[in-house]
Amino acid sequence: MTNLSELTTLHVGGPAQVIVRAKSEEELIAAVAAADEAGTNLLIIGGGSNLLVGDAGFNGTVIVVETTGNSYEIDACSGGMLQVAAGVNWDEFVAFTIEKNLANLESLSGIPGTVGGAPIQNIGAYGHEVSEVIARVRTYDREAKAIRTFTADQCEFGYRDSIFKRHSDRYVILDVTFHLRRGEFSLPIKYKELADALGVEIDAKVATEDLRKAVLALRERKGMLFGNTHQNWSAGSFFVNPFVSAEVALTLPANAPRWPQADGTIKTSAAWLMENAGVTKGEQINGAKISDNHVLALTNAGDATAEDIVQLARSARARVQEKFGITLIPEVRFVGIEL
Ligand SMILES: Cc1cc2nc3c(=O)[nH]c(=O)nc-3n(C[C@H](O)[C@H](O)[C@H](O)COP(=O)(O)OP(=O)(O)OC[C@H]3O[C@@H](n4cnc5c(N)ncnc54)[C@H](O)[C@@H]3O)c2cc1C
Repeated sequence: MTNLSELTTLHVGGPAQVIVRAKSEEELIAAVAAADEAGTNLLIIGGGSNLLVGDAGFNGTVIVVETTGNSYEIDACSGGMLQVAAGVNWDEFVAFTIEKNLANLESLSGIPGTVGGAPIQNIGAYGHEVSEVIARVRTYDREAKAIRTFTADQCEFGYRDSIFKRHSDRYVILDVTFHLRRGEFSLPIKYKELADALGVEIDAKVATEDLRKAVLALRERKGMLFGNTHQNWSAGSFFVNPFVSAEVALTLPANAPRWPQADGTIKTSAAWLMENAGVTKGEQINGAKISDNHVLALTNAGDATAEDIVQLARSARARVQEKFGITLIPEVRFVGIEL
């Protein structure tokens, strides 16, 4: 029996009753429909890079999306439209677009997982989000038992959020269509650390290939790439950055990061709150460890259980709650275990 620890980047999680590897769209829809028909619990997995599965495993069918293939049209004026299967590896796709002289995905280099996983939490990094370039998302709607295509505005994208995340048991993502700009220059750089690494000012544009290299180097240093060392055995950032009211923001120390939002709320930094509430890099509960490189990443130091990871997350969350009165919300999806 396969343990879900073999299918998740945190490398924790007990067994699944049945595991199906869907290599084609037909296989994927057939496996989903069969499980739904039989009334079986269903868990869809892409790269397993945003999942915390409990030690008891999953009581039902796990479908691993391994569909491949893409079709694309590139036009000198309107740019590229690329329709990409959900199972394609995200970072291989980003590298492919840069090779084809297509821009706008370079900041999202090095994020683990699949193309199908990307719209779910509207992946983002270094000042950009995937929703900026998504034209359409094709899904299998388990309720209607039919294919349903969402245009970008129907996806209800928000910060680490989408309609697919909010209805995670309804839509199976089959493929995603991206609209990319033709060009060798990146989007304006919005992130100081990245601008500094490239020796340019904020808002500068550089060659997409150079930006990709700089992002991969920064991510490598923080253990934020897919990899086989224990520093990479994580689910990336464990908590999302909190949005607080202007009144709550006023209660934070003057040096706390504050990013005012259009709706009047203030976004602050989960990493800053953790560090200033006494959560330290390298601290450990059994096999669960705060990354040595990045306080927001909870890692598996080798023999962690899902329960260890949850205990460490609870401890970090409680310290932030006590010091700042802010409850951190996980970015990671929990299956069969609760925070
Ligand atoms: C080291 C590391 C760094 C990371 N850095 C970032 C980052 O910079 N920015 C960021 O936004 N995220 C980051 N992440 C989180 C993660 O990589 C992304 O959220 C990724 O898009 C998840 O894709 P996945 O295929 O692995 O999804 P999984 O983890 O397999 O699944 C996540 C959720 O999506 C659902 N799902 C997956 N595929 C489908 C599908 N085809 N149809 C329907 N539902 C599906 C699952 O059921 C689950 O609910 C990081 C993770 C790691 C491990």
